[in-house]
Amino acid sequence: MTAPDLFALSEIKGPVLRPTDDAYAAEVTGFNLAPRHTPDIVVGATGTADIVTAMRWAAATRTPVTVQATGHGANFPINDGLLINTSRMTDVQVDPVTRTATIAAGAKWRDVLNASVPHGLATLNGSSTDVGAIGYTLGGGLPVLGRAYGYASDLVRSFQVVTPDGTLRYTDYDTEPDLFRALHGGKGNVGVVTEMTTDLLPLSRILGGGIYCTGADAEALLTAYADWTPTLPPEMCTSFNLLRLPPLPEIPEPLRGRFWSRVTVAWTGAPAEGQNLLAPIRAAAPVVFDTVADMSYTDVDQIYQDPQDPLPARESCTLLRDLTPEAVSTFLAEAGPAVPDYPLLLIEIRHMGAALSRPCATEDEICARDAGYFLEAVGVLAGPEAAEAVERATASLLTAMAPYSTGHTMPNLHGSPGDATDRARAWTPEAYAHLQRTKSTYDPANLLRYGHTVAPAA
Ligand SMILES: Cc1cc2nc3c(=O)[nH]c(=O)nc-3n(C[C@H](O)[C@H](O)[C@H](O)COP(=O)(O)OP(=O)(O)OC[C@H]3O[C@@H](n4cnc5c(N)ncnc54)[C@H](O)[C@@H]3O)c2cc1C
Repeated sequence: MTAPDLFALSEIKGPVLRPTDDAYAAEVTGFNLAPRHTPDIVVGATGTADIVTAMRWAAATRTPVTVQATGHGANFPINDGLLINTSRMTDVQVDPVTRTATIAAGAKWRDVLNASVPHGLATLNGSSTDVGAIGYTLGGGLPVLGRAYGYASDLVRSFQVVTPDGTLRYTDYDTEPDLFRALHGGKGNVGVVTEMTTDLLPLSRILGGGIYCTGADAEALLTAYADWTPTLPPEMCTSFNLLRLPPLPEIPEPLRGRFWSRVTVAWTGAPAEGQNLLAPIRAAAPVVFDTVADMSYTDVDQIYQDPQDPLPARESCTLLRDLTPEAVSTFLAEAGPAVPDYPLLLIEIRHMGAALSRPCATEDEICARDAGYFLEAVGVLAGPEAAEAVERATASLLTAMAPYSTGHTMPNLHGSPGDATDRARAWTPEAYAHLQRTKSTYDPANLLRYGHTVAPAA
């Protein structure tokens, strides 16, 4: 890249940095520290105009583009091209009358909740509100309250997006519907979203928390969980977890350095009714502690207690048809308490169905509507040996669980994007073909080619 190439970027209000600049490393580094990003240039966008300028420049110079808000989804290294960092764009406007929020590109769910909950309105965020609202929603967004309300993307009314030709477009149900559909679960394939407007839910309190048993009781807890979940009403949103927590000071004392089996709970009905429904789980094994209580929705992070500080991690997932006794014993043979030195930090089996099975009012790219459960595995890559062990354990777990899988993943939690066949697992063949056709309309030169992307149709 030569100096004149960069002239057009001088209009940008935010920083425009090259690898030799002091602030470059901080600008490219996100929450997931596993990949080392080395784009040719990074733009710290301060608003829509900066993104339009950067995208026009990329179109003119045919430079590949990636976008990062928080780096929670950074599971591949960005080795060249232009990186647009949206983390300065955190504006959130809540309209309590229409019950909507208009959310800028870099806002985290925490920013949205801070603005909406005082009006008695909540969002369909996932297990950590430190995650970017737009990156999460573009991948469909599997929320804590998914069974009760569906996917985050089901609530989106409109997007403002800069397509790779540098054009700022508005899209909704009626305006450029293919573009709108591609942004419902199609991830960052067709443009850089500058803002989205989404419905909010009339909700400010839930019953939420975790029921913690020792890891040694995983079989009893998971067996009870598999029997219990098919009986539950949609308002009960739960997951089963195996947590092998390292003895690190940032992990709170009762949890630190121990192996846990846990059921997380989010219930949107009357608190007493929800507490009654939990009886079979509390009776399954000795409960070491139980945090399930009525809570403000602003405390939703207390349910999963996801890490808040950046770390090098590898995640992977698959969708399960159901949780049969064979699936339970296969899972425990792979990852249960009898397996010595098991390297995965967290394995989650999240209950799906109910509103997560309901079709969206518009066509979309989400392929998980037929899944009974969602299985996710996360390992921390603390050095090359740990990374190898995490890789081996993840591959072994997913292979063992393949007979119970729908064969699909989700773009948000798919993990490191492999070749085209691997990435295609996040969509149905029909959604994949639609994404490819839409990509050939809006990104024929395939400038948005890194991460969980598809190639334009030939
Ligand atoms: C601790 C933790 C908990 C999580 N919990 C859940 C969960 O419960 N449910 C769930 O569904 N997911 C969950 N996720 C996954 C998360 O939704 C994805 O990692 C998502 O991509 C994060 O978006 P981000 O913008 O924060 O990340 P980033 O790494 O900044 O972005 C990831 C990708 O999102 C796309 N993107 C981001 N911003 C834009 C934009 N403005 N325009 C176009 N594309 C954009 C790009 O493809 C980018 O590569 C979790 C992840 C972590 C680390």
